[in-house]
Amino acid sequence: MSRTSMNFDIIILGSGSAGYSASIRSSQLGMRTALIEKEFIGGFYFNYECLLKYFLNKIKIFQLFKDNKYLLGIDYKKINIDFYKIFLEGNKISNKIKENIFFSIKKNKINVIYGNAKLKKGKKIEIFQKNNSILECTASNIIISTGSKSSKLYDEKNFINYKEAIKLNKKPKEIVIIGSDHNAIEFASYYYYMGTKISIIDNNNFFTDGDNDVSCYLKHYLKNIGIKIYEYSFIEKFEKKNGKIILKIKNNNKKFSIETDMVLLLDTVPNTDSIGLEELGIQVENKFIVVNENYRTNIPGYYAIGSVINTPSLASIASKEGISCVENIKGIDSQKIDYNNIPKCIFSIPEIAYIGFTEEESKKRKYHTKISKIPFSLLNSSMINESKDGFIKMIFDSKYDELLGCHIIGKNVINLITEIMIARKLEATAYEILNGIYPYPSLSESILESVSFAYKKSIYL
Ligand SMILES: Cc1cc2nc3c(=O)[nH]c(=O)nc-3n(C[C@H](O)[C@H](O)[C@H](O)COP(=O)(O)OP(=O)(O)OC[C@H]3O[C@@H](n4cnc5c(N)ncnc54)[C@H](O)[C@@H]3O)c2cc1C
Repeated sequence: MSRTSMNFDIIILGSGSAGYSASIRSSQLGMRTALIEKEFIGGFYFNYECLLKYFLNKIKIFQLFKDNKYLLGIDYKKINIDFYKIFLEGNKISNKIKENIFFSIKKNKINVIYGNAKLKKGKKIEIFQKNNSILECTASNIIISTGSKSSKLYDEKNFINYKEAIKLNKKPKEIVIIGSDHNAIEFASYYYYMGTKISIIDNNNFFTDGDNDVSCYLKHYLKNIGIKIYEYSFIEKFEKKNGKIILKIKNNNKKFSIETDMVLLLDTVPNTDSIGLEELGIQVENKFIVVNENYRTNIPGYYAIGSVINTPSLASIASKEGISCVENIKGIDSQKIDYNNIPKCIFSIPEIAYIGFTEEESKKRKYHTKISKIPFSLLNSSMINESKDGFIKMIFDSKYDELLGCHIIGKNVINLITEIMIARKLEATAYEILNGIYPYPSLSESILESVSFAYKKSIYL
């Protein structure tokens, strides 16, 4: 086994959204940077998640036809979706996205090192490479961004994790999805519209991620199209019969079974085992690395960003944490991330986008709230855009007119949420929004209408 060694200003462990962004920013700031990756450059987002979003975009085109029955005079029943072709096209797009990443890595002269990395004392990293050699690297600063992994409980072919669910090249007849969080809803939408029979089992109540009104609407919508939802239900055991899985389920005092081809498990855990954290004494809590507001760990010179720390698990946040962490290392006082003003988006059908506090959270925080909830079916623009499903709900503090939160469900609503994020960042009140001019007809009108309605100034409602 041969050994060589190299030295850098910054070494980043893991090239996902967090590590990749950190490496580009580090190089932009003139630091000699190494990016270590044991699998695929770009991590989960660029190698898997982009594909799922591509598939969802494609299925939304079909859904337009399905919902309208005879859109443009085309009978949706005559449309044949080629699952495998969409899969291949998605992979082509994903490869193009990766080409862009490789281009910017090259442009920024980042040293990419492939191999399984382990932290060693004295700011050293050992990288076990494919050719059976060990590369030893040292750096003044080490950033840990090893992401998360599936906590797949069963080693059975029929139980798949989120990565396997994205890479299925054959449409399954039926899938049982365990859990009802944002990821579960995206998978349910995609496979349902592809023609797979979907059941969702949750040991809690359904979709607790956002505002209660959104959860209720979503539950009703999914049940209505034929997705089965089992709340407060636990899998006691499972059996295999003729290649199928039979799940034995307990719901309060009721017991029942569900037979299926496939079970999708979505749980993830931070990837913090076996990377040398214990040997270095880096503090870990519930598998998450503990950091301060500048992403420093308890050991000087070691930082952590992305899914290995206990912040909301989003690629958008991971990337920003990478940039912020590197700027702090360089001594630039970068703006802190406002974790209360993060847009959360679910690319399902219908789409969901929300930011800020829910109605329940606002009440818990003792705000006196002013709330408006406008169904899209009442808006002229929605009728023109054929997007009548869903609603926009806005929550204001009635004392200072501060915009506390916004929760939207419907078609193309993800594009609306950035405006709310900017409004909240600039501390805009209802007054500023009401005095804006909104393009007619556009979905963004719904924001103006919603605020007008809350302040009893609505012209159309
Ligand atoms: C199904 C699903 C859908 C999602 N949808 C969205 C979405 O729509 N929008 C959004 O913003 N976020 C979404 N997320 C969350 C987002 O994917 C994560 O927040 C993001 O990928 C975290 O980035 P990361 O860099 O921390 O980790 P990762 O992307 O997991 O990257 C970690 C990298 O480290 C490498 N690595 C690990 N250990 C080692 C080692 N010892 N040596 C060398 N390399 C190592 C891994 O191979 C990997 O490439 C979704 C997540 C899931 C599961």
